[in-house]
Amino acid sequence: MDAGLVALLLINRKNSPEELTEEDIEKAIDFASKLYARKEWSSGYIHAMMLPNSGILMANPSMAKKRTPEAIAKNLRGLLEEPEDPNAPICEICGRRHSRPKPVYRSDFPLVGTGGVPNYFPSAKDGLNVCSHCLFLVQFLPLVAYKVGGRVLVMHTYPYELMLELHREALNDVRKNFLASNARDFKRPENFLFHLLGELTRKTERDDLWANASITLYYFVVNNKSPDVTIIHVPTPVLRFIAHASREDPKGWKRIVAMGWRKRPAEEEFEKYERSYANEVYARLLAEESILPYFIDVKNRRANAKWSLLSFYCSEVLGLDKEALEFIRDVGDRIVETLEKLPDNQLSRRVRELEKAEKLYQFEAFFVNLEKLRQRLGIEKPLMTFDEFATVLTSYGEDLNVSWRTVKHLLLFRVYEKLHDRLMKASEEAEEAGEAEEIEDVGIYGLGEVEE
Ligand SMILES: [Zn+2]
Repeated sequence: MDAGLVALLLINRKNSPEELTEEDIEKAIDFASKLYARKEWSSGYIHAMMLPNSGILMANPSMAKKRTPEAIAKNLRGLLEEPEDPNAPICEICGRRHSRPKPVYRSDFPLVGTGGVPNYFPSAKDGLNVCSHCLFLVQFLPLVAYKVGGRVLVMHTYPYELMLELHREALNDVRKNFLASNARDFKRPENFLFHLLGELTRKTERDDLWANASITLYYFVVNNKSPDVTIIHVPTPVLRFIAHASREDPKGWKRIVAMGWRKRPAEEEFEKYERSYANEVYARLLAEESILPYFIDVKNRRANAKWSLLSFYCSEVLGLDKEALEFIRDVGDRIVETLEKLPDNQLSRRVRELEKAEKLYQFEAFFVNLEKLRQRLGIEKPLMTFDEFATVLTSYGEDLNVSWRTVKHLLLFRVYEKLHDRLMKASEEAEEAGEAEEIEDVGIYGLGEVEE
């Protein structure tokens, strides 16, 4: 119903429901019914994917001969003019008007059930009690939905202005092609959403759109054979992070996303991958799992993004407090201060120790060895005090998100950020000398699960 309202606004190029006039409604009826009378819409889309056998929109194949824009418009107007029955229950959607005397099924309202197939009905009863105005609105849903990978995508949002932005393209496509939008040929709903969000944040400076935003994707198909729906809720901190990343460090964000495909795409293949393939970074963000390992590229010993983006992610999404983060960064800097005194080949070997630490005792050993090294190099201050050492190893140990592995990722990030060039030089030299200093592709999976 909200999507239908968005369609009415977009058709009339208006921004809020209060601005809609009676003429606007008439214009929308005219716009929709002309399209709905076309075969591509009627049998290919409305009947096949959203409202099977719709009588109101005359998508029922048996109505093909009588189907005209005028007849469809008449049905739509009929809903607006339908008298209220004071004895009927209150509408389950708006709660304002009495519902139609007869319950509504999926031929007229997407995703609810039908006689023998009870999909979704409140209170497990037969049919949906909906008023004729809500039913009217939902008839405009096909105009703003996207066709993605053989299904229909609707992105429901709070605030509703965000929904207008996310669905504007669908209606623009309809105006241009007289066909439902195919979402630029994206095959996966979450990839399309993340792509749109990136564009939108770069385009608009309106932070209020994200501050408390909430987005739920309804990805469905309703037909006579195998109706199905997937509901994807996008966590609010994740939205804020995407908005921040796209604006503050778009290149870094792109590198992080590229790590989410097993086979990394070449620069020019990125968009193709983005349109077509499932991405582990997106999946983890939506499942509220950590994407910290993707901030570093162990194979190329590189930090993928700016420290500021990592810091934003840790505090806004993982909930790591700022002080802890600064402390870890400080420890990272002290590690760098020590390591940079070493010749390239030794530097590389020390970093490898940290990279390969898969068990807590190995992680500990790295620090103990580094402390010894500092003494040998004659660096005055110790790497860490005993209390700091204990903090790094254990304080975050019990927290699911902030384990020693988290600390390890953050430290590696800092080391790569500062020493990338020297580390790569070391590997090249080792390669030329034919030494067995191979950089194994331990990749993300080799770094162990973040949750452990
Ligand atoms: Zn209603």
